[in-house]
Amino acid sequence: MVGNFDYLRAQCLAEALEFLDEERENCRVLAGGTDLLVLIRRSIESPAHLLDIKALPEARRFEYTRGAGLLIGAAVTVNQIAQLPVARKKYPALADAAGVLGTHQVRNRATLAGNICNASPGADLAPPLLVFEAWVQVKSLTGSREIPIDEFFAGVKKTVLRPDELVTGVYLPDPGDGDRSVYMKQGRVKGHDLAVAGVAVRLTESKKLCIAVSALAPAPLRLRQLEERLNVVGINPATAEQAAQEVEQYIRPISDVRASAEYRKHLAAVLLKRAIRQCEGGGKNV
Ligand SMILES: Cc1cc2nc3c(=O)[nH]c(=O)nc-3n(C[C@H](O)[C@H](O)[C@H](O)COP(=O)(O)OP(=O)(O)OC[C@H]3O[C@@H](n4cnc5c(N)ncnc54)[C@H](O)[C@@H]3O)c2cc1C
Repeated sequence: MVGNFDYLRAQCLAEALEFLDEERENCRVLAGGTDLLVLIRRSIESPAHLLDIKALPEARRFEYTRGAGLLIGAAVTVNQIAQLPVARKKYPALADAAGVLGTHQVRNRATLAGNICNASPGADLAPPLLVFEAWVQVKSLTGSREIPIDEFFAGVKKTVLRPDELVTGVYLPDPGDGDRSVYMKQGRVKGHDLAVAGVAVRLTESKKLCIAVSALAPAPLRLRQLEERLNVVGINPATAEQAAQEVEQYIRPISDVRASAEYRKHLAAVLLKRAIRQCEGGGKNV
């Protein structure tokens, strides 16, 4: 038995927002359910109402506009992202991360919005969103707002969302043509596992490095201070090594059932070095 709750499959945004406004803390938004239903089954969450948003037309939007960017509605699945040719071409770090989240079956249900709203420190899709400077589109009965992704996470499994707010989509600006990026993840086992460490690196057309990590701090994190130290000198053959040596100053990994903090620091250095070299080398594995 998976909990005891009422279920509403909203057919339009107004219906969903009115319901959320009425029920607030008694209600949880249901997207793919791959996080939420596990928590309900374990009695960690016991909402009175589930609001299913998969039928909302706004949540199903998934479109790339040249010059503007990529809009990913809140009901778009992780497999849809992994399989989208424009994601592979323009946002490879995002496509990489989508391709290594869970199993094929999980990816068929899981959404990007659910991944960031769940706000696990190890969320695989967060580091790519951080390096592409994505915006989270949020609506409530009282209005709408766009939250830059690096202001969205508020700690372990916490976001800045209010209980009456719904994420309708996530928007990634167009990176331009000379942009390179990669996401690298290490889990305990090959196949499907949560990240012990995850690193996204983006090298922009103007040769600026952007770096973000998962599972290495209480929330997914953009490493802006490290970026500044590297970008002030400019990318050169020593950059990857310097980044690997310095990264541990900017992360706060913990020891848990998956790995020790020390091993996580080691992985951060190894993955970051590889990811920077891969971006420098034009996207080939090195
Ligand atoms: C076997 C297994 C393997 C997994 N492997 C990975 C992995 O490798 N990497 C990884 O990062 N994750 C992994 N996960 C976790 C999970 O699959 C992802 O976090 C997924 O992206 C969650 O999306 P969802 O649509 O299923 O979210 P849901 O479970 O539907 O929702 C998650 C949370 O977000 C809230 N929410 C969802 N949508 C919205 C919205 N539009 N507005 C406001 N709040 C919202 C929900 O109320 C809930 O609190 C795994 C899970 C399982 C079961």
